[in-house]
Amino acid sequence: MTDDAIEPPELTTDRILTIDDDHFTTDSVALVTGAGSGIGRATAVALAQNGLTVAATDIDAEGLAGTSEKAAELDVPGEIVEIEGDLTDDEDVRRIVDEAAEEGAVRYAANIAGLQHISPLPEFPMEKYDLMHDVMLRAPFLVSKLVMPHIRDTDDGVGAIGNMCSIHGHTATQDKAGYITSKFGLRGLTQSIAAEGDGTLRAFTISTGYVKTPLVTDQIPDTAEERGISEQEVVEDVMLGESQVKEMMEPVDVANLFTLGFSQHGRHLDGGDLTWDGGHLTTYE
Ligand code: NAD
Repeated sequence: MTDDAIEPPELTTDRILTIDDDHFTTDSVALVTGAGSGIGRATAVALAQNGLTVAATDIDAEGLAGTSEKAAELDVPGEIVEIEGDLTDDEDVRRIVDEAAEEGAVRYAANIAGLQHISPLPEFPMEKYDLMHDVMLRAPFLVSKLVMPHIRDTDDGVGAIGNMCSIHGHTATQDKAGYITSKFGLRGLTQSIAAEGDGTLRAFTISTGYVKTPLVTDQIPDTAEERGISEQEVVEDVMLGESQVKEMMEPVDVANLFTLGFSQHGRHLDGGDLTWDGGHLTTYE
């Protein structure tokens, strides 16, 4: 297995989708959770490259600093404001949204923070289940509940909440019951926001297959052990086996979907899912 198969290349400006949008200015704030690593970091940088003020939050302060460094290196026209916080703590979530609102009009939220745990269901530790549920479903619910009034308070009520789902919000596989349960729930939350959003306050999910981030590379050894196969077989057969496109996505490919969904070009995307999975869910051999 080559490192290139799982290590993303350096993020460069030319890989970032930029869209002209009247709301993509530093007066608009996009709250991004999980912004200290992987998809969240790429999304924070990409939205700042689109001119927004990004309230970047994560439990990992060092990771957040790395995100700011990356944005500075690319000389983004927008801004990144670091807000450290733990999404399992309701008071922290309230403070995060309050601090984001001090930076401008909160129009966008990207619920991206997450974690994985590999274990057969009968042995699944309940404390892991609770943690995954708190970070990947309860926190997005609370963030949405707190952000919706801010979007409604803007001059035109335009804004959107994007939730990072997965192919595992649509289909199930072995040893990921905690993750799959949360991701299926996230689609219910998303459609509920759309049902209450009057068409200007929109919501959407993004469902990808495997993306080159630490969340994925860290699960390769555990998956190999649980299934009794090599790490190379995990990548080629388990992760990409059902996909027609035999290449893992990069974090920036996902970031670009958040930009599209938040933009005017996403204005008919409401409650729906951007299924960007290389054919994983839609085809079989
Ligand atoms: P990652 O591990 O690189 O980043 C996850 C981030 O979430 C980390 O920075 C971590 O510190 C943060 N986080 C975890 N618990 C937190 C908490 N209690 N409070 C605040 N922040 C917390 O992972 P990633 O691959 O970038 O995943 C991001 C999201 O994308 C997750 O929701 C994941 O389920 C989803 N996703 C990932 C893939 C993939 O293949 N990588 C595929 C589909 C969906």
